[in-house]
Amino acid sequence: MPIDATLPYDETNIFARILRGEIPAKTVYEDDFALAFHDINPQAPTHILVIPKGAYVSWDDFSTHAPDAEIAGFIRAVGHVAREAGLVEPGYRLLANIGGHGHQEVPHLHVHIFGGRPLGPMLA
Ligand code: ADP
Repeated sequence: MPIDATLPYDETNIFARILRGEIPAKTVYEDDFALAFHDINPQAPTHILVIPKGAYVSWDDFSTHAPDAEIAGFIRAVGHVAREAGLVEPGYRLLANIGGHGHQEVPHLHVHIFGGRPLGPMLA
């Protein structure tokens, strides 16, 4: 079910539990600001999720409340992960689902990295 992204951060969400090491993830990258791991239900040959380490529900929450260093660190981490996955050429797709209309299911901000095949036009 899509979430209401205006609700307060829920410390029990699955990505919070991954960040605390309570449940496993196939980690591909970690630094002070971000954790990246393979999506459990991949929609493309490469499907990686990158999450900020801070407790942010949505892009609105993150862009409003995160310190500049966290925002810069997270964006650099997304770029780094895509580069290390070999996606810069031939290309890839970034996606962040936000709130109900965005069909966000996990209430911790995350960016999907899709690649490894031609992805076609965006679907509505
Ligand atoms: P949607 O499911 O509509 O894409 P999100 O953007 O919130 O909504 O995406 C949540 C993503 O998290 C899904 O792609 C799902 O497969 C993935 N996921 C859920 N649980 C785990 C997990 N334990 N480890 C890795 N990925 C997970």
